Amino acid sequence: MWFIDMRTAIYPGSFDPITNGHLDIVQRAARLFDRVIVAVAQNETKKPLFTTEERLDLVRQCIAPIANTEADSFDDLLVKYVARKGSQVIIRGLRAVSDFEFEFQLALMNRKLEGRIETIFMMPKETYTFLSSRIVKEIARLGGDVGCFVPPIVQQALTRKLGERSGGARV
Ligand code: ADP
Repeated sequence: MWFIDMRTAIYPGSFDPITNGHLDIVQRAARLFDRVIVAVAQNETKKPLFTTEERLDLVRQCIAPIANTEADSFDDLLVKYVARKGSQVIIRGLRAVSDFEFEFQLALMNRKLEGRIETIFMMPKETYTFLSSRIVKEIARLGGDVGCFVPPIVQQALTRKLGERSGGARV
């Protein structure tokens, strides 16, 4: 029988880019734990819009006002990273039933790989349950206003990135 050390929690994800939904989860987690590390997964196979450094930089700036939080990135197996950080807790966000199947599989796989690590699911404010990085990118790509879904620096980064990608022709 062991006890889980609940002091440090890791909130991993692609954060491509970080949204107000992610930030809602960070805020909730920071109230429960002494230290929350928002960990950007390199995830090159997902072909992210932003580089790891860009995603990390946006996360760092967005979480700066939230006490007890820090940003980091990782490219190894999540459970190995969590153990390396001296943590035993993984935070994941659950928006809707549609998230459940994948998150359930991931949590049980991580438990199989490292039995001492627990996954804790948190629900965002209802208004963020429809929000995802994918939808934000899609709206921005089509020229829609994403100002109420992401912080201003993320909105600016999206405008810049999508402008670069279209050769400056259209945002
Ligand atoms: P991943 O590639 O790990 O799915 P994401 O950056 O999309 O990375 O999400 C990271 C975590 O944050 C996941 O647990 C996801 O379910 C959760 N999440 C994403 N968007 C929201 C949101 N709007 N509200 C709450 N949780 C969210």
